[in-house]
Amino acid sequence: PAPLRHYNFSAGPAVLPESVLEEAGRNLMSLGDTGVGVMEHSHRGKPFVEIIERAEALIRKLANVPDGYSVLFLQGGASLQFAMCPMNFLPDGGTADYLMTGSWSKKAAKEAKLYGNPHTACSSEATNFDRIPTPAETTYSDDPAYVHFTSNNTIFGTQFPTEPTPPGDAPLVCDASSDILSRPLDISKYGLLYAGAQKNLGPSGVTLVVMRDDLLERKCREVPAMLDYKTYVEGKSLYNTPPTFGIYVLMLVLDWIEKEGGLTAVADRNETKATKLYDYLDGSDLFKPTVAKGNGRSLMNVCFVTGNDETDAAFIKFADERGLKTLKGHRSVGGMRASLYNAFPPAGVDKLIEAMEEFEASRS
Ligand code: PLP
Repeated sequence: PAPLRHYNFSAGPAVLPESVLEEAGRNLMSLGDTGVGVMEHSHRGKPFVEIIERAEALIRKLANVPDGYSVLFLQGGASLQFAMCPMNFLPDGGTADYLMTGSWSKKAAKEAKLYGNPHTACSSEATNFDRIPTPAETTYSDDPAYVHFTSNNTIFGTQFPTEPTPPGDAPLVCDASSDILSRPLDISKYGLLYAGAQKNLGPSGVTLVVMRDDLLERKCREVPAMLDYKTYVEGKSLYNTPPTFGIYVLMLVLDWIEKEGGLTAVADRNETKATKLYDYLDGSDLFKPTVAKGNGRSLMNVCFVTGNDETDAAFIKFADERGLKTLKGHRSVGGMRASLYNAFPPAGVDKLIEAMEEFEASRS
């Protein structure tokens, strides 16, 4: 019989752990023995308050969040954070530095233009964002309001090996949408870190924000309550109705990460999966990775091409027929993209490599 589930290489929304889906399914009609489904509970009631508190506690534990930071659950995706960050922290006409490593960085900087002057501290756009610029290629402005970077570039398959170091006391702001909790990270280096949940954390509709509380003192203008970080800090993310079901699933995913052994164990597994695939690609005559070794290869999104659009399309179809789904690359890179987030099973990488070998053999 056909398996119930295929290998899903989607860049997001993306694969979730099966144990999480099963547990969520069991609680749809009744959360535990409450007799009320998990998404039917009031966000002010004890069962949901326990869920959101547990989600926060797990983030704090897994990511080792220091005191003085808030863990917040927002809506609007990472895209709203592109706007909320400058809206709150970029004074009129002020400068903020952006490390331009892909389309998402560009979109983030575009929102900053509404308020001030985003300064391009570095960019790999000239070579279609095929690498992460080195610190030596990065020039910060004198006194930026903050420094913004995209830790993993979902579309182009590049990832910062380590955090950039901002000048002076400029807070580091990070869009970590596509590699959040995929490896250990030192939160104390960040002022503001945000991530849409739909890749490594859960379903779409929840945005995780981890913010150093003293940033609130840098607020530079009045903004509507729903766009003000202070509202979420003071209201513990319960100023209005939060995305309760999304936060519940996120909590289950965090539980799963903990059971898997935490971020170090998850990072090891991610590294093994991606390295296996890159090793195969480096040795293949037909398939070529789009990011060269040493240029910041992403462990989350592995992009590769054959160099011929028709062959790419034929392979995508060939793989799809074998239950390897959503391998088509983003249109700005073309070819294929295998997204290997935390919950992507290692066996799926083996299946993909087998399919590539078979396809390559069938054409030679
Ligand atoms: N930033 C990155 C790195 C992404 O990969 C994405 C979506 O794929 C976004 C931002 C946009 O996120 P959202 O759709 O949650 O607004």
